[in-house]
Amino acid sequence: MALSFRFGTVGSPTGTPKKPGGSVGSIQFSRSIGLDAMELGWVQSVRVSVETCELIRQTARENNVAISVHAPYFINLNANEEEWPKSRQRLMDAAHYGNLAGATDIIFHPGSYFEKPAADVLLVAIPRLQGCVNELRAAGNPVIIRPETMGKSAMLGSLEDTIEMAKSIQGVLPCIDFAHLHARPGDGSMNSYDEWLTRLESYTKSLGDSVLNQMHIHLSGIEYGIKGEKNHLPVAESDLNVADLFRALYHFKAGGRILCESPIMEQDAIYMKNIWQEISGEDI
Ligand SMILES: [Zn+2]
Repeated sequence: MALSFRFGTVGSPTGTPKKPGGSVGSIQFSRSIGLDAMELGWVQSVRVSVETCELIRQTARENNVAISVHAPYFINLNANEEEWPKSRQRLMDAAHYGNLAGATDIIFHPGSYFEKPAADVLLVAIPRLQGCVNELRAAGNPVIIRPETMGKSAMLGSLEDTIEMAKSIQGVLPCIDFAHLHARPGDGSMNSYDEWLTRLESYTKSLGDSVLNQMHIHLSGIEYGIKGEKNHLPVAESDLNVADLFRALYHFKAGGRILCESPIMEQDAIYMKNIWQEISGEDI
């Protein structure tokens, strides 16, 4: 029986051998160490050829590794009129080439509030995102677009923001970074079984039970201050209560993918996988 969650890294595992290297080598290496998902870290820009995308797609299929893409950081649904077309192009490029590379999900950071109320910002962000999805579907591109929950309180990307986008637009679902959700309030809260249960309950109530087995989760240890996230840490060096989080996910019979963003990415991905197996009792 397969596990409910696939596990992998965001970006190439650090131990990927130099040859063949690249995304192809990273996928093969992930499989060799027991990981079955990978998120292509196209975080600076999308610079990949159609041929490379085809190779990635084939390798992922042969190795049964599920592929997603982390789109460039420089995307902002709340950008001004002048900046927005460039932001939009980055997201569209990630979705286009990601789809060619066999990615089913495109993850992006939704942007900044620029000190405006979340509700006002969403009035700008949602129609823009809807326009992107419309254009992708018109081009026959089926990828799910996933705004990520962000770790700083000044950033668009509370769990509520991402739920609101998903409720408004078919084909949009949150990428839930639980470490960010823990860091965002800045007071150490959002780190217990009951708190996670409450959040997951509002998640499924808003979006329906069907989203539970197609969750896309980012996870790492995290350091934070009053304004939220400072930086990512190895899981064992942080206060993130992974076991309680996994118990809550298990309670909801959740499934999908968990991608690790810690500095010791593949070690922590395997560590998380082991914790999940212990808690769920699932075997492979
Ligand atoms: Zn991210």
